[in-house]
This record gives sequence, structure tokens and C-alpha cells, in this order.
Amino acid sequence: MDKNRLISIKEEKRAKIIENLLQNDLIELVEDKVVLKGDYYKNQLRIALRNCDIINPFDIEEYIAFDGYLALHNVLTNLSQREVVDIMKNSLLRGRGGAGFPTGKKWEEAFTFDADQKYIICNADEGDPGAFMDRSILEKDPHSVLEGMAIGGYAIGANKGFIYVRAEYPQAVKTLKHAIEEAKTLGLLGKDIFKSGFDFDIELRLGSGAFVCGEGTALIESIEGHRGMPRPKLQRTAHVGLWGKPTIINNVETFANVAPIILNGAEWFRSIGTEKSPGTKVFSLVGKIENAGLVEVPMGTKLRDIVFDIGGGCQNNKEYKAVQTGGPSGGCIPKEYLDVAVDFESLASIGSIMGSGGMVVMDENTCMMDIAKYFLEFSVDESCGKCIPCREGTRRMYEILELITEGKAQMSDLEELENLAHVVSDTSLCGLGQTAPNPVITTLKYYKDEYIAHIVDKK
Ligand code: SF4
Repeated sequence: MDKNRLISIKEEKRAKIIENLLQNDLIELVEDKVVLKGDYYKNQLRIALRNCDIINPFDIEEYIAFDGYLALHNVLTNLSQREVVDIMKNSLLRGRGGAGFPTGKKWEEAFTFDADQKYIICNADEGDPGAFMDRSILEKDPHSVLEGMAIGGYAIGANKGFIYVRAEYPQAVKTLKHAIEEAKTLGLLGKDIFKSGFDFDIELRLGSGAFVCGEGTALIESIEGHRGMPRPKLQRTAHVGLWGKPTIINNVETFANVAPIILNGAEWFRSIGTEKSPGTKVFSLVGKIENAGLVEVPMGTKLRDIVFDIGGGCQNNKEYKAVQTGGPSGGCIPKEYLDVAVDFESLASIGSIMGSGGMVVMDENTCMMDIAKYFLEFSVDESCGKCIPCREGTRRMYEILELITEGKAQMSDLEELENLAHVVSDTSLCGLGQTAPNPVITTLKYYKDEYIAHIVDKK
């Protein structure tokens, strides 16, 4: 495979795909760009989801038709590792898995650390209730992830990558396996890619559904063949990671953003979104919402625009009550904050988090304690049990919530719940325990009257 072959595939295929989609009334062309048809998509900007529902994920040539593997070619034939790292740093892309750590900075840490072996891992262990962003990318555009990983591998000096994907995503596993084989057959993975001397191989590892394995150190333990439990972060994973070697872990959506950044430049990417959170973010909009589905919008878009302009508001004209962002680690956002800009900083400032992109909408009939209980029960079930604050604290918090909802609690129980929430958050070992109390903390902050209404002794 060389650049001429990529271009000839593109010229041969692209027009036919577009013609077919137009005939089926599935897309429209806006300034020569392919846009999915319908009101739901008109206010969206699709970068990570650019090919989803447009190409056939089982045909690598359809990915190539939309500039696939051109970024990898540019990187391997024209750019040094340092230049790739600098482009990613200048783009200010932040990890889309939840923490929002700058991707280029992470890559630089591994690039500058000397080692005989380095690894790059794609975290595809999406486990938040209501979240299916990564699943959709893997099922509908797997090569965008493979290409991003290969570019990352070249940048840091890794020739081996792993995709840690949930076994509960059989279709994603199937598309990934097929995509890896196709890429190998065309010489886009494997030995001496584009005759550049760069070798890069990707292996799949299946997770068995433990939510905690989405945490970086637990994920590494699991790939190494141990029980998936977090370990204390004494060193940076970029320096000491998988089998003690420098390792970069990025999530699916982060990798899906890499090729467009290389092709269009860091400045282009920074022109979208906000100054501190450039680019777009994919959300799975679910719950009591009229138009549920995946949404990709520029960072900084108002929550109101997502819920009402794209989502169409609550089902059956019910009144909006709250939206839970960030899954079990996130918080509930009440209607007085509907105009909050959806970006890392703004959501944190009101007690929630971006998380990986789950957005669960609740209407006027939703009991906020039921919501807090639901997410807390999830965390109790998924706690790996390694540290006491998380293992016992979340369980005790759940017991108190049950007392409250059964009308058997006193004010002192409510105080204990509040105190415990902060203790668990401050003293747990990993992100699961540290953020598990968030749904309780935010519902207590914004809906305390609902808690008090259930209390027996209101003094
Ligand atoms: Fe395990 Fe919870 Fe402790 Fe994390 S915080 S290590 S999930 S017990």
C-alpha cells in the first residue's frame, strides 16, 4: 500500500458511497461535506462520529474513501515523532474517557522516557449505565480507532497496542477483529507500514464486565492476567505501565479524534469548542427524552441546546427536572443550570463531571432519591472491595438511602449520609470510590427538600 493506492481507492469509492446514500435519502451535502439528514443532526458537528452510519465498517475501502489512513501515511512519511507529539500537544485534545488529561502531554511523557519496549492501550471498557458512545464508534467506524492507535504508537515509540474491550460488546469485538485483519492484509498494520520501517500490531483483550477495569491501573492488571483491581499510582503509567513498561492509555473517542487533527491541524481543532476544552464531545442522550441517541457537539454547547434543540425536551411534554452527566461518577444538574456550558470546567464548577459522555435526562416525575440509590447501588456492586472506605462506606450510604426512601430515617441519618459521602470521596483508593458519592452529594445539594420530606424526625 502506498499513497497513490489510497488516493485511487478514495476516488473510486467515495462518489459511489455518496450517491447511494443520497438516493436513500440518508444524507445531504453541506458545502461538500456529508451530513446525516434530519433535524436531529443539523446542530451537531461530527468529528469522532464522522463516518458512523455513512460507511460500511466491514469494508476498509469505505474508510479509505473518506480519507482513512491518509493521516497515518502523512505521519509515517513526513513527520518525526517529536512533530506528531507537538501537533497533539498544540491541539489541546483532552482525554474523552472522563479525566480530561491533555493527550499530547501524556504522549510526550512516554515519548521522552527511554525504554526498550512501550505499549499503547485503547480503553474500550465502557461501562457507565446509559453510555454507548464508544460502542457505536467501535461497531461503526473501527478503523478510526486503529489509525489513531497506530499514530500514537509511532509518536511514543510503541510497536504493540492492545484494545481492552468489553466481552458484552460482541458486535464491537466482531468489527474490530475484522478491521484488524483487513488492515493487516493491506499492510496498514503489521510490519514496515508504508515502507517507513515502522511496525505496529494490535491485539484485542476482552474484559469480563467489571466496571472497575475501566480504571487505568486495574485495566493493566487485567491485561497482565491478574484480577482487575486498581493499584496505588506510585509512578506515572506513561513511565511504568503494562509489564512495567511506558504505556499510554487513551479511550476510544480520543483515538477517533487523532487522524482528523493530523489531517486538519492543531489550529483547526482549537477553533472548535472552548479555549480550555477544544473540539467536540460525544454524548449518549437517554432517559426521559423525546429524541434519544448519540449527540456530538462542540465543547461549550449549552446543556439546554442539547436537551431541547437536539433532544426535543422531555417525553410527553413533561417538565425537565435534571440531567445526570458522567454516569455513576457524575452528578445531577437541575433546571437552574440548563444554560451551563458543557465542558470539563463548567460541569465541575456545579458539582458534576463530563465523564465519558453519558447523559440521562429526568422529568418532573423522577424521584431524585431513586436516582441516587440506583447509581449508588451500581457502585456498591462494582466496588472491587480492595479499600474499606469504598467497600463499606458505599454500602452504608446505600443502607441509609433505603431507610430514607422507606420513611424510617431521622435527621441524624441524613447527617451521617452527608458526612460519609465526603469521607468515601476523600479516602478511597481509586476513581470509582472517589466519585461514587457524587450522585448523592449533588442530589443533596440541589434536592435536599425531597430528602427531608421523607424524614420522620424533621428537627
Ligand atoms: Fe476497589 Fe473501590 Fe477501593 Fe477502587 S475505591 S480500589 S473500586 S474498593
